Amino acid sequence: MEAPDLSKLVEARAAADFDMFRRVVLPEEIDHHAYVDILHILSYASKFMPHERVQIFCNGGGGDADSTNAIVDLIQQHEKCDGYLFGTALSAHGLVWAACSRRFVSRRGALGIHQAAAAVIVKEEGEKTTATEKRLIEAARIRSDNLMFALFAAASDKDESWWRKRTPGSGMCELISAEELIAIEMANALFPRVDWYGQPVLNACEGCGKPCGADDWLDVIVPDDVWLKISGHMDSGGILCAGCITERAALLNDYCVGRLIFE
Ligand SMILES: [Zn+2]
Repeated sequence: MEAPDLSKLVEARAAADFDMFRRVVLPEEIDHHAYVDILHILSYASKFMPHERVQIFCNGGGGDADSTNAIVDLIQQHEKCDGYLFGTALSAHGLVWAACSRRFVSRRGALGIHQAAAAVIVKEEGEKTTATEKRLIEAARIRSDNLMFALFAAASDKDESWWRKRTPGSGMCELISAEELIAIEMANALFPRVDWYGQPVLNACEGCGKPCGADDWLDVIVPDDVWLKISGHMDSGGILCAGCITERAALLNDYCVGRLIFE
């Protein structure tokens, strides 16, 4: 089956970007149009390029909760989305970013979080909000918060109660820096960091440059003495992919027992 012309299905700019770079840039505010675009792009990608990853750029100021929840579900279902955080991903943009199966952050990137705001019911003049409506509004707000804490917990090494304590009320905002997002294992760095000795820490194999977390990345653990010989690192630092570990270990005139980790 021939692929349909994507630009007929989605906003022309998003389609052009996707065709050229496999990249989706979220609009400044997430709304129903953004949901429709992402639905078309991800169903197109699943059908016509099932092995390629889709980059989602998540800088922006938030948006409507229903469209955002729908986008989060689409992205989790697609499973091959990489979230890129340049600038600040505030509330809804942060949720979309957290839903991506791999996440990356730039040096000045930050995640902005706050509790969900209560929905506002538009009333005729003089008409009051009923007690039942107030309870429904509060239940919806609590549900949004719980979904957010669960999503952030699944994307990091912190649990839901940690996120609950960290998240301020809806009128405020807490910014989580790139360094902290990396420390809590929520993001890979898009910039070189340095270790205790001032050496750059790269999220890639030092042998062949393959990025960590690539689709076919396999973690291999070898004893410290073997690691020192093949990597040159005293302190078990540094990164080598399975291919480079095997290649280098094969050059040693000795047996080497390694452990493979499948995740
Ligand atoms: Zn390698």
